[in-house]
Amino acid sequence: MAAWMVAGNWKMNNTTAEAVALAKEIVAGLPDIAGRGEVVLAPSFTVLGSVHDVIRGSNIALASQNIFFEDKGAYTGEISPAMLKDAGCTYAIIGHSERRKYFHETDEGVNLKTKKCLAVGLKPIVCVGETDEEREAGITEFVVGIQVKKALAGITDMADVTIAYEPVWAIGTGKNATPGQAEEVHGFIRNILRDLYKEASLNVRILYGGSVTAENFGELIAMKNINGALVGGASLKSGSFLGIISRALENGQ
Ligand code: PEP
Repeated sequence: MAAWMVAGNWKMNNTTAEAVALAKEIVAGLPDIAGRGEVVLAPSFTVLGSVHDVIRGSNIALASQNIFFEDKGAYTGEISPAMLKDAGCTYAIIGHSERRKYFHETDEGVNLKTKKCLAVGLKPIVCVGETDEEREAGITEFVVGIQVKKALAGITDMADVTIAYEPVWAIGTGKNATPGQAEEVHGFIRNILRDLYKEASLNVRILYGGSVTAENFGELIAMKNINGALVGGASLKSGSFLGIISRALENGQ
């Protein structure tokens, strides 16, 4: 099984000074995670370089919150994977539910972006998850199953792919899934991966995301198929983010 990952998605927050200060606090407070797990920060595009300078030499990797799937050209406002690698990114968050909701990203677009990441050597963190209405209607597995299969269409090697299960109703709401609810969907995703990738599926990290805190993460990370967290709100304060990392060290596999 792959080592755990705790990734902080800063979303559209932090000026350069704020981002640098937060990254410095996280670097200063980071326990020894070498060989145990991975910590990733995903700041806004504008501060990737500044945050990269701060985390250089630490055990923290950099991620972008999105990419565009073309290499270069007349795509005003977009950022290519090569530019993100150049800025120091190792990972890229793909298909976050906020991008699906506000920017109309589709499963097909998520697939193009995931494949482009892999083609250029960026590691995608592919987000999937059902809405409140979909859960209420009892179609969580149907929805998540389609999202996973479409995102991974044509991908044969999963060594660099991480999946993040983020129930939309739990993102930024303070309403996190119970460990049992989360594990049920993680197990379902693992089964899809097993069908597609056989033994290699066991090494694919499946993160949970949705109102993760230092208080609730200990029980989540102890679940068999939960291999880490994608953290929004609680990644914006060093104390809460470092607390989540401590829970991963204590209870993660
Ligand atoms: C997220 O944005 O990926 C997320 C999980 O946010 P929050 O932790 O704030 O729910």
